[in-house]
Amino acid sequence: MNFPKLIANWKMNGSSKLVKEWLEEAQDKIPKDYQTKCLFCPPVCYISDASKLISRTDSDLLLGAQDIDAHSSKSLTGGISGSMLSDLGCTFVIIGHSERRINFKEKEIIIEKLKSALSSNINVIYCVGEDSSEKESGNTTKKIIDQLSVLKGLNPKNLMIAYEPIWAIGTGNNASSEYIRDVHSVIKNELENLLSSNTDIPIAYGGSIDTSNVETIVKTQYVDGLLIGGASLKAAEFSEIAKISLNF
Ligand code: PEP
Repeated sequence: MNFPKLIANWKMNGSSKLVKEWLEEAQDKIPKDYQTKCLFCPPVCYISDASKLISRTDSDLLLGAQDIDAHSSKSLTGGISGSMLSDLGCTFVIIGHSERRINFKEKEIIIEKLKSALSSNINVIYCVGEDSSEKESGNTTKKIIDQLSVLKGLNPKNLMIAYEPIWAIGTGNNASSEYIRDVHSVIKNELENLLSSNTDIPIAYGGSIDTSNVETIVKTQYVDGLLIGGASLKAAEFSEIAKISLNF
């Protein structure tokens, strides 16, 4: 599977106009052969627009969703299934983001969402991360291992992990290289325990990445990709991050 190196998570931001402008600028500024490594995740209401623009402009950017429903065939008002996302050209979905765990109280449903995505052949970016009190009380490893446990028995072929410490998301306070390396190493070991031993699941880091810290983070051992929120909203900044990271 061609996993992305950069993931632009727009969260609940944007408009049709901004999506169009962003895609045109990103298509222009990100080197063509690196576009296949960049995944654009706009709000679900703009996925259709984005999909058409990506094919019309002959862009190679990947398209992803920020959420998926747990059921694929059920009477579910407001539901969005994996086959619908697939129909629109989405090849990835973010599951387990801390903002959904906290604001939508997602917990047990996460395993259903994982199964739903994988059964529709949508690749999953599964987010894990500790909050500041878990970090301060030395419980980071425990939290990560607990969040990874839902992956047991799933097919690892279509999985990517995003390690996103909650205290680093949108705070301007990114984790240090050493800290990221240590947590990613815990994740790698735990994935080997949970899944078959020779799986090589990529692990992205997310949390306050910008043009000033991306080089240090992307060079960090065990970092296979980056998940970017705030700094992905402007195409110029995201493209600059892409240019810095493509050398690593
Ligand atoms: C995110 O949305 O997951 C994220 C990492 O946001 P930010 O880059 O703004 O910290």
